[in-house]
Amino acid sequence: MFAEVAFPISNFKTFTYAIPRDLSKKIHIGSRVKAPLGKRKLIGIIVNILETPPYKGETKSIEDIIDDFQVVTPELWKLISWISNYYMTPLGQVAKTVLPNNLSTRYKPLKILFVESILSEKKTNIELLKKRAPKQYEILNKIQLSKSPLKVSSLTEYSSNPSQICKILSGKKLVRLFEKESIPSSSAFSFDPVDKKIIFNQDQERVSKSLKQSLENEVYMPFLLHGVTGSGKTEIYIEAVRYCLKQGRTAIILLPEISLTPQISGRFKSVFGDTIALWHSKLTQRQRSWTWKEICKGSYKVIIGARSAVFSPLKKLGLVVIDEEQEASFRQDSPMPRYHARDVALMRAKFNNAVIVLASATPSLESYYNYLNEKLNYLYLPNRYGDAKYPVVHLVDMLEEQNDTGKFGQIISGLLQDKIEERLNNKEQIIILQNRRGFSPVIRCGDCGQIIICPYCNVSISYHIKTDNLLCHFCGHSKVKLDQNCSDCNSKNLHYSGTGTQKVEILLRDTFPKASIQRLDMDTSLSGRNITNILKAFNNGEIDILLGTQMIAKGLDFPNATLVGIINADQGLYLPDFRSGERIFQLIYQASGRSGRRNKQGEVVIQTYSSENPVIKSASMLDMKKYYEIALKEREELDYPPYSWLAKIEITGSNQENTSLLAINIAQAINGDYTGLSILGPVPCYIEKLRNNYRFQIIFKSVKTLDPNGKKLHSFINRNFNHISQKHQIGKARIKIHFDPLSLI
Ligand code: ADP
Ligand code: ZN
Ligand code: ZN
Repeated sequence: MFAEVAFPISNFKTFTYAIPRDLSKKIHIGSRVKAPLGKRKLIGIIVNILETPPYKGETKSIEDIIDDFQVVTPELWKLISWISNYYMTPLGQVAKTVLPNNLSTRYKPLKILFVESILSEKKTNIELLKKRAPKQYEILNKIQLSKSPLKVSSLTEYSSNPSQICKILSGKKLVRLFEKESIPSSSAFSFDPVDKKIIFNQDQERVSKSLKQSLENEVYMPFLLHGVTGSGKTEIYIEAVRYCLKQGRTAIILLPEISLTPQISGRFKSVFGDTIALWHSKLTQRQRSWTWKEICKGSYKVIIGARSAVFSPLKKLGLVVIDEEQEASFRQDSPMPRYHARDVALMRAKFNNAVIVLASATPSLESYYNYLNEKLNYLYLPNRYGDAKYPVVHLVDMLEEQNDTGKFGQIISGLLQDKIEERLNNKEQIIILQNRRGFSPVIRCGDCGQIIICPYCNVSISYHIKTDNLLCHFCGHSKVKLDQNCSDCNSKNLHYSGTGTQKVEILLRDTFPKASIQRLDMDTSLSGRNITNILKAFNNGEIDILLGTQMIAKGLDFPNATLVGIINADQGLYLPDFRSGERIFQLIYQASGRSGRRNKQGEVVIQTYSSENPVIKSASMLDMKKYYEIALKEREELDYPPYSWLAKIEITGSNQENTSLLAINIAQAINGDYTGLSILGPVPCYIEKLRNNYRFQIIFKSVKTLDPNGKKLHSFINRNFNHISQKHQIGKARIKIHFDPLSLI
């Protein structure tokens, strides 16, 4: 017998080896083995087992097998190969993204030093300590007062080197020191387990039954679960996972945003306890590697996580759920592979004969179209659970407001202010959405009118009042405010216009001085613990008004939040991107869905300068079907997805002229176009310069009526760009290939 082995060298190329007889029983696809490669001996993984070698001649033998578990399942390896092929990314690059660093699972959890008191000591010694060694005394006191062992590292307020002092105390037999392994704790990302008495309503019963039946069949089955906000989708996931585990299979739940993790994982934990692992960007390399190993060994059965959780090496995967499947964060654009976790998950489910549920109150137009075309099975939850009703929505025309009050650029309308007041008086809670962080997103020169832009990107720079600096939201470039002059006329007379969350926060604090107000955006929530604490505090009623960016707009379930205010619904509406309308609709609809999720009637106030815009209008009527009809028609007329397949070639480089020239050369060299394909460009991207690189793009659209499964476009791009993509570079310019790009700007 022979084995194909992939090594974690730059390209993960595979090599064939003979399997020695004594190892033949122990070797499986996915096991790690040691084998000679050139003069070295390397560790690789078996990706295929063959009866006969693929070529004649001598084959070297595998030397040894490393461990008794599979690092990768055969289906996962198949998925890695599929991604490499579909997204035109070298296998090694995909494998590096998916697998733990260098295939290593040997990282051990860090050991953490704890200390606890030993009670038997005589008082006199301690009194002596108080005089002679006050630091030791203080620390000892702290340890004695604590009911449970303390992390030594938590004692830094008493001494810069607490471990040394604890060692001295331990030498005097006053305390005991011991080490504990630090396994990735999920408590920082999780609400406390929440027990609920769940009684399914008829709709839930029907949906749940369909899912169970499909799970029972153990074949690939893709669903679109369309459930209005508050219809109880989470409970449906839980019931399906329960059934799946009973079958001896496993499940993955993908969430689009770290802010959704605490609530959902708290619910899951109360039902499934410690069989759940969280997988997200805040895990360290060591924790990832350790978690990977534990998943391989079967210690976890359910993984809840961000997009890369789609790669968890679970065996016998039976169910994948993608919550809020429309979210753009499921797409990775950098680094390669540039993949969409939803599409990858569909493939993974296929390879595993699993059920996959794409769930949302506002599905992506793609998924909605796929349901209309019977590519997805449709499950519908039309009503909110229990007595909860849909919120009443008020649309405030800010232009009219301006005319009536004579006040220009008002941030909070009279109506929204009254409604906030009313809900505060009723001791109910309020969510305010302003989908832009910082204080002021546009800084304009008062003398010549020039807008200050980031020196590295062609976008306006934002002012952050908390840190008193100017910050580019694209590249992170930051500058002290005082140093900033107008680049055109050198004036210091700068105006801070536009509205970010920090400006709204200050205004809210001025207007409602007695209310407890908390902001949640990327600036406040750098750590997972921070996010969790803020959400917990809101959940417990310690915060009256929660203000934030899109992080707070979806998925969250707060029983006492009865008013949602959307400061500026037009944000991003006029971006030249075919998806901007869809995005805004979904954001407004989702944000509105946070209001009135129990028996109290909820309300939503949407502020807009475009009250006649069809996106804003249908969003304010919470009329999804109507908007989707309009949007689909528009897409069809313009041959945009879901009516076509899309690819984008992005050409970037630090020299504008050379990059532009290269883009033109590439466009001219393209050959072999076919009916149904349109090529747009090359043109400079909407954001022409990003991180000091100039950007150009060529868009390819292939209509589905003539290219039903996208194969034509795929082989066209392959033929034209494969040789380029393997080098990734021509001179200093880079070519990036995006299949099914989400954004064209
Ligand atoms: P969605 O995700 O669809 O917006 P959730 O799953 O958050 O809705 O459900 C809304 C609220 O209703 C949650 O607090 C949930 O626990 C509760 N709920 C949903 N279904 C049931 C049920 N069958 N029995 C009891 N409570 C339920
Ligand atoms: Zn100026
Ligand atoms: Zn920048």
